[in-house]
Parts: sequence; C-alpha cells; structure tokens
Amino acid sequence: MLVLIGASASGKTEIAKLLTTAFGYKKIVTNTTREKRVNEINGVDYNFLSYDDFLDKKNRNYFIETALYGGNYYGTAFKDAIDKSVLIVEPEGANNIIKHNIPNVYIVYLETKESTRKQRMISRGDSLVDITNRINTDKIHFNSKNISHIDYIINTSEKSTVELTKIINDKHQKNLEKKEL
Ligand code: 5GP
Repeated sequence: MLVLIGASASGKTEIAKLLTTAFGYKKIVTNTTREKRVNEINGVDYNFLSYDDFLDKKNRNYFIETALYGGNYYGTAFKDAIDKSVLIVEPEGANNIIKHNIPNVYIVYLETKESTRKQRMISRGDSLVDITNRINTDKIHFNSKNISHIDYIINTSEKSTVELTKIINDKHQKNLEKKEL
C-alpha cells in the first residue's frame, strides 16, 4: 500500500489519480464527515457520511484508522487496505497505519511551497476563510516531524504531476524488489 501524505493542495489527489490510471493502483476511497465540495462525487472522492453513521462504524471497528482534522472525521475501512493501492491520509492516520504493521506499506511525504498551495486553493474555489484556516492548521498538523516513519520525501516544486507520479512509483517498486531479495 502506497501512502501519500501532503498538506492541503500539495497535489496528492492528482498524483493518486495518475497512479491508478497509469500504473494500475487502486485508489482507496476513504470516509469523511466533511461537507462535499462542488466538484466531488460521493463514492468516488470520499464516502461522505453523517457524524452518526461515522461514529457507529467507528464503534463497530469498521476502520483501520480514524483522525479528526479541521473539525471533521476521516477514516479508512479495514476492507479497503489491500496490496496495490494508494491511500491519502493526514499524519495521524499514517501513524496508525504504521502501527498496524501492514506488509508493504510505503510512506511518501509531499513537500509543496505554501504560495503554490494557496494559488491552487484559490483556483479550486475554496473560500478565503477556509484557505487561511487550512494554511495555518497545516503548518502544525502536517509537519513531517509528526510522522513516525517516512520512506521517501519528494519536493513537488518544478516537477509535473506525470514526473512526480513516475518517480514515486519507481521508488515504491524498487523498495518492493529490495524486500523480495
Ligand atoms: P480534504 O478535506 O482536503 O479532502 O482532506 C483533508 C485531509 O484528510 C487530507 O490531508 C487527507 O489526506 C486526509 N484524509 C483523507 N482521508 C483520510 C482518512 O481516511 N484517514 C485519515 N487519517 N486522513 C484522511
């Protein structure tokens, strides 16, 4: 399982999409209580759940990990944690995945300039209040020091999504080969 961690608008969603279309990964659709954004589709971008439904599932041990971020719950279902998949989580989720000792987990941290991220958030139509909140929260929440193990840190500046995706897949495959030896 390839785990991508990156602050808001670091480009992780685009990379995950390309990993599925160009390299055959399955994107894990996670679950959230956050409100759906204009361009998002239920069941594709997330499973959008009510608080009650989320908490009920959480109590029934449906999730391998959950996290509270920006006032909303996020969680990955046990049933979705399969081998050739890509998972996007925030640091707390990554730490819990690491604790479960799932085989072949490869953790990638995306580093993206704040100015680039701000511009992307404006382009995707986020409100200025949301942008300011995310930028401030992410400074603390997404600090790489909060992540207990990282396999690869990639700086996303000056590289296209295609290049970044190829590098990440190569690194992951090389790591798998090394483990098989
Ligand atoms: P957004 O609301 O911008 O789509 O996502 C906010 C953050 O939640 C992102 O950093 C994303 O990686 C993270 N996230 C999405 N799904 C999950 C999940 O199932 N578990 C955890 N821990 N984080 C998630």
